[in-house]
Amino acid sequence: MRELWFSGIGAVEVREVEPPGPPGTGEVLLAPTHVGVCGSDLSLLHGHHPWIRPPVVPGHEVTATVVETGDDVPALRRGDRVLLNPLVHCGTCRACLRGRFNACESAKVIGFRRPGAARSLVLHPAHLLHRIPPDVGNDLACLAEPLACGFHAASRATDLEDCLVIGGGSIGLSLLLALGARGAGRVTVVEPTPAKRDLSLRLGAHAAAAPEDLDRVTGPRFTSAFDCVSRAGTLATALDSVCGGGTVVVVGVPEGPGPLPLARMQRYEVDLVGSGMYLPADVDAALAHVARRPDDVRALLSRTYPLEQAARAYAAAGTAESVKLLIRMTDDG
Ligand SMILES: [Zn+2]
Ligand SMILES: [Zn+2]
Repeated sequence: MRELWFSGIGAVEVREVEPPGPPGTGEVLLAPTHVGVCGSDLSLLHGHHPWIRPPVVPGHEVTATVVETGDDVPALRRGDRVLLNPLVHCGTCRACLRGRFNACESAKVIGFRRPGAARSLVLHPAHLLHRIPPDVGNDLACLAEPLACGFHAASRATDLEDCLVIGGGSIGLSLLLALGARGAGRVTVVEPTPAKRDLSLRLGAHAAAAPEDLDRVTGPRFTSAFDCVSRAGTLATALDSVCGGGTVVVVGVPEGPGPLPLARMQRYEVDLVGSGMYLPADVDAALAHVARRPDDVRALLSRTYPLEQAARAYAAAGTAESVKLLIRMTDDG
């Protein structure tokens, strides 16, 4: 069988490996069909990820077909189609006991601290699999993973009357869809690429601006701002652009520490919160949204590459034009 392999900084290979053994209790053997290329994969591949460096097997946005179930997996059978929750939590720490599995400090996300699922066959815990709705294809279902990040980020802010989304890539646009589904009032997207600004307007944004034009399109400060880029400059913009009592949500993966305008945050009670991946309910909400609004989600899918061309997919993902790219793991599509 084959697997994708980030063998070093910037190096993408497809290599032959031994298949995994049979599934253990509570495990499922899966044949992945589609793997999403994500901004966090790129930061890992190019050595900018805050925690992880290559070599690693990537793949955390993954849809698959069930091949074989281990003992104690009553709800799944061979041939079922599933989306993986890549975040393997411990279940016993304080965060997990409070139901905040995504904040588990010993969580291991596949494709980062654990080998990913960009391989012909992979074992995964059955309780971390979400069934794909019958009328949704595995390619679109794969986009429910970044969409779940959007649903979770939307849940981290309380007042969605007037929202700013910084970054119109796959996460920013997923967040835009989630904010619409959650009944947000107004959404403004800040994005340097004109095509992505146009796409955000087609997907329901009320305004879209280049970063240098933000002042011109906004009225009063926003009730919530979501930073899907998380560079020092974007976080400063987010913190400066929310109203008193507003919330800034850090959604993008920052490279490291940055300065904070503590005086404004203290005086005007600006809350700064993180959003890290998602909870199972966010994944279910995302899959349901894909079933309900497939055309919106399809608009985020720029292109699907066969596994042999994975290196091209990771190179193209770094360009301004592409939103979400998929890698097809099987030859039959
Ligand atoms: Zn991702
Ligand atoms: Zn835990």
